[in-house]
Amino acid sequence: MAVYQLAQEALAGEFAARWAEALAAVEAREVAGSLSELEAAYAAAVRESAAASYALSVAFYRLVRALETGRVIGGPGYRPGASLGSLWSDFNTLTGTRTGSGPRTPLPVDVRNPFPAADLEREAKRAAEAFRHQVGDRVERHERERAGRGSSALDDAELIAWEKEFLESLKTGGSGAGGMLVQDAGRDAIHSALQDDPGAIGYYRKTDASPCYFCALMAGRGAIYKSKRTAAFGAHPYCHCQAVPIFSRRYQLPAANDRFSRMWRDFGGGSLADWRTYYSKTTKT
Ligand SMILES: [Zn+2]
Repeated sequence: MAVYQLAQEALAGEFAARWAEALAAVEAREVAGSLSELEAAYAAAVRESAAASYALSVAFYRLVRALETGRVIGGPGYRPGASLGSLWSDFNTLTGTRTGSGPRTPLPVDVRNPFPAADLEREAKRAAEAFRHQVGDRVERHERERAGRGSSALDDAELIAWEKEFLESLKTGGSGAGGMLVQDAGRDAIHSALQDDPGAIGYYRKTDASPCYFCALMAGRGAIYKSKRTAAFGAHPYCHCQAVPIFSRRYQLPAANDRFSRMWRDFGGGSLADWRTYYSKTTKT
């Protein structure tokens, strides 16, 4: 369901816009003095968009599960008397599009809640780490360089370009890392729910329109059936891949996943670096 993947991507985009807005409010020379305000804005934006990502993933999981098994699962957002109609309308509300609808007949319920509660403490810690790496460390380096250059080392145009590049790096680095955290809230909810839901058999990776070589490789592997130790999902900054749960062997992979499998077969084997080269050559044409 492309709508789900795009809606998650949009949440990362909303986060990036908020971060850009917070940065735009300060001059390059004021950044070091505004770090704690910037960090608070960063953390709040991650928290809010991550909560939206989590809620969207739960609604998506519940809907896909009901469509495939005819049963509703409990957990956050569950309402008694849930039907395909109500699950579609929950999903439509969260994605802001009218993707589907269904009958209002209440479905049988599995009361179990497989969704882990959002781990806000861990999330806040990850956001603080991301901020330190992508913003704090960069600012420190930049201030050191500025002090080292002295005041007359650069003419105006060079100085302006240098400061602009600095701000740009804070924007790009911060939004890549934060966007990953935002989407991880939803990805983790689905990945964990699978393990704890006897009705789920696994998941596949739904990529965005132009995934990197690594994600294409993962998507090309097809369905990942769950086992006692299903490996972590494995996303990265600027990755908009999502885990789509499957509940029966009758699932249908997206056309892109089949295309990546064929590409992998045609590649014929080799190192990850070889695959990377092959993939970028093949997808460029
Ligand atoms: Zn990806």
